Amino acid sequence: MGRLRHYVCGSTSHELGAVFRGMAAGRREFPAGVFLYDADDGRRVLFDTGYATAPWHTGWRGRVYRRLLPPNVAAVEDVAARLTADGVDPASVTHVVLSHLHPDHVGGVRRFPEATFVLSEGHERTLRAPRVRTGVLPGLLPEWFARAERVVLHDDAFQSTTVDGVELRAHDLLGDGSYLIVDLPGHADGHVGALVESRVLLAGDAAWGHDLIDASSRMRWLPLAIQHDAGRYMATSTVLTHLAGAGIRVVCSHDPLASTELLG
Ligand SMILES: [Zn+2]
Repeated sequence: MGRLRHYVCGSTSHELGAVFRGMAAGRREFPAGVFLYDADDGRRVLFDTGYATAPWHTGWRGRVYRRLLPPNVAAVEDVAARLTADGVDPASVTHVVLSHLHPDHVGGVRRFPEATFVLSEGHERTLRAPRVRTGVLPGLLPEWFARAERVVLHDDAFQSTTVDGVELRAHDLLGDGSYLIVDLPGHADGHVGALVESRVLLAGDAAWGHDLIDASSRMRWLPLAIQHDAGRYMATSTVLTHLAGAGIRVVCSHDPLASTELLG
């Protein structure tokens, strides 16, 4: 059995009543989660990279983003600092999977120049034509990113598979079924999650929180309008509900978690 660990790399806070109808007013903190999987054979797969601790050279788009979702990140929360503090050499990470390209997921990309990046076709599309509406700030990515080792998962890389009676489209990243990249469309173009050892689903931003999956149907028009595809976002939240019902632990990127170890 492998090992799956969770780290918090910065956070933001948001008024839940502004996002969902019928939700009691109150600010909630949303930690930016990063997940490290140690496979039995020594390969190490990181899922997302959290916020950047370095200054954002992202112009007015960055200023707009930071006003809407102000990031809160201390130097110790940098992904490389988090791994090092836990005895993990960042250079030992072999793969970096990006759920999508929003700032709270790509801020630490610059810490992994040696890794193979796992991207979907939708991510590539977004990088070719970044727009304000996509919420992607290319200035957060290091200059070498375009030349980095990468695996791009095109449509045909995903196979239909049934997990506990739930239909999914998945790509077997390590070739042994331990780490499936799962198509979870809607939030951003090409948004993906990861099903680890058939037990834990890293759901990225497919929902605001594991306790907020059902609330997706009550999302107000503005937060819904900034989803890449609102219809598919809603369909994905139904998939998450079914997987959770089948006993799979659904972990969203911004869930506060009580323990670091997710498989132990
Ligand atoms: Zn996002």
